[in-house]
Amino acid sequence: MRKYVIMGVQGSGKGTQGTMLARDFDLVQIAVGDIFRWHVQNHSKLGAQVRRVMASGELVGDDLVEAVVRQRLNEHDWNYGFIVDGFPRNANQAEFFLESYDIDGVIHLDLPDDEVRRRVLARRSCSRCGMDYNLIAQSPKVEGRCDACGAELISREDDTEEALASRLRDYHEKTNPVLDIFRRKEFVFTVDARGEKADVQQEIRKQLGLPESQ
Ligand SMILES: [Zn+2]
Repeated sequence: MRKYVIMGVQGSGKGTQGTMLARDFDLVQIAVGDIFRWHVQNHSKLGAQVRRVMASGELVGDDLVEAVVRQRLNEHDWNYGFIVDGFPRNANQAEFFLESYDIDGVIHLDLPDDEVRRRVLARRSCSRCGMDYNLIAQSPKVEGRCDACGAELISREDDTEEALASRLRDYHEKTNPVLDIFRRKEFVFTVDARGEKADVQQEIRKQLGLPESQ
């Protein structure tokens, strides 16, 4: 059984790397963002709660996040292990997690702030069908137009220099204490996230002592 936490700033490829690992090692991927999205889309009670919080312009609180992760882990459908993404978000949650689960490692995807800025500010999505683009890695065939439907590509409203700077500050402020707790237990494997997807994945596996992908 393998139990991991994956941490990294937005744009670090955390979701993608988690998915690649989960797929090859039969891990259950527990991504807090995806769980919330599912609840909102399926109009569950929790979804209504999340929607209310977001409508007021606030971030979903740490307590709600913790409740969701606990509930998900309590399903015990993770026969070969799990990889958690988006949790823990503060020192208390990290302590709880360490006490409750015998984790094998924390994958810390390290991406310098200026690279985050470069990646995030290059994000675009289609104003009609919602398809995602990135002007660095997946630029559209025709500038400013969606490959699939031809509609205009737009930036997300909160992908501005200023908003991103504030998100980065917030991320470091919250994440550093969590990493410190895990570091004390020597659980943290820091991986340089600047490289190609496949190379980053190999480096993760190397550090965790997992077999390389075929
Ligand atoms: Zn489109």
